[in-house]
Amino acid sequence: MTYRVTLIPGDGIGPEVTEAARLVAEATGVKIDWEVVEAGEKAIQRSGTPLPGEVLDSVRRNRLAVKGPITTPIGGGFRSVNVALRQQLDLYASVRPARAIAGEGTRYPDTDLIVVREATEGLYSGVEHWVDRDHTAAETVNVITRKASDRIIRFAFELARRERRRRVTAVHKANIMKTTGALFQTAFREMAPRYPEIVADERLVDNMCMQLAKKPEEYDVIVTTNLFGDIISDLCAGLAGGLGVVPGALFGEEIAVFEPVHGSAPKYAGQDKADPVAEILCLELLYRHLGEREAAERIFHAVWETIAEKKFVTYDLALPGYTAHPVPPSTCSAMAREIARKVPNVDLDHPLVRPGGSHVTPLDPHLLE
Ligand code: NAD
Repeated sequence: MTYRVTLIPGDGIGPEVTEAARLVAEATGVKIDWEVVEAGEKAIQRSGTPLPGEVLDSVRRNRLAVKGPITTPIGGGFRSVNVALRQQLDLYASVRPARAIAGEGTRYPDTDLIVVREATEGLYSGVEHWVDRDHTAAETVNVITRKASDRIIRFAFELARRERRRRVTAVHKANIMKTTGALFQTAFREMAPRYPEIVADERLVDNMCMQLAKKPEEYDVIVTTNLFGDIISDLCAGLAGGLGVVPGALFGEEIAVFEPVHGSAPKYAGQDKADPVAEILCLELLYRHLGEREAAERIFHAVWETIAEKKFVTYDLALPGYTAHPVPPSTCSAMAREIARKVPNVDLDHPLVRPGGSHVTPLDPHLLE
């Protein structure tokens, strides 16, 4: 069987890391027919818009996409293509598994967190304006709806149940945001009793950041609104080994788009330096979603072994300051070739064990039934 999947290479390091992911996908033997479409800077040059209609049409048709990061101008310019894609395709659930890999590049080698972020509303509503003519005051509207809160919280509990996770923590700021925060909090409190086997608790977002930096191993699945989820998922990526190793998936009712947590890292663009692992692990999530379990597990094992061996790892897992055991850094393409070479040869019966002794259990992200 051949799967048809939209591929959006994106900007900056996007083309390099998506090429790396394609190479690894080929090594699994599961056939993918990639439909490549451009969004972002290249699309502006070609068609004058960063998100041409053909991109949305392609993702709607295939219902599956793998995406590289797309640059968003800061403080002006066009609106984020990433946000537009999520809103227009109603990709409401952003799932970001932050797993430390082989204890490398992290002070917290047992990190195993899943951030579930609402991805269509909140402070990303796009409703913002200057309050006065002189542009000395501005406001952004934080739209929180009961419908979107209910569906993301249900998604997080269902994911926790499927993954046999013990705990779901809701993150909000309901002490200060007494309407939007309280609405999300109420939705969580009313949903939690339907999942009696799962511990449900809440943290204010500021306290959550401190708790994660202090004792991340106590947390498990985190569910939160759009902006807090953006910030918390970068924090969790830092705990797990950096933005270079954390993949992500966006789910709607019928469409799934796989993209890393990281951005386009323009300073490394075209230099073959970026870590390809986050994008490669997006393929792992794609294969799990397709039910191609063996291919997914082969990818994860091959990534783990490559990082554990440290013969071919990029700067973020190689240089002093990033790792306790520095080695000469490798390139993005060499690391991808090594992972691809290992994919058919890994021993899936060999358990992956974290430094703290816990076994790594495979992820199984799926659309809601
Ligand atoms: P970034 O994630 O691009 O980079 C932050 C830091 O992490 C940088 O030091 C970078 O060098 C490092 N980094 C990121 N990916 C890496 C990788 N694969 N390997 C090694 N190091 C890596 O964040 P930023 O610099 O704040 O944003 C750059 C651009 O990306 C902005 O235009 C932003 O809007 C966009 N962005 C896009 C997405 C997306 O497409 N989903 C997500 C985040 C940011």
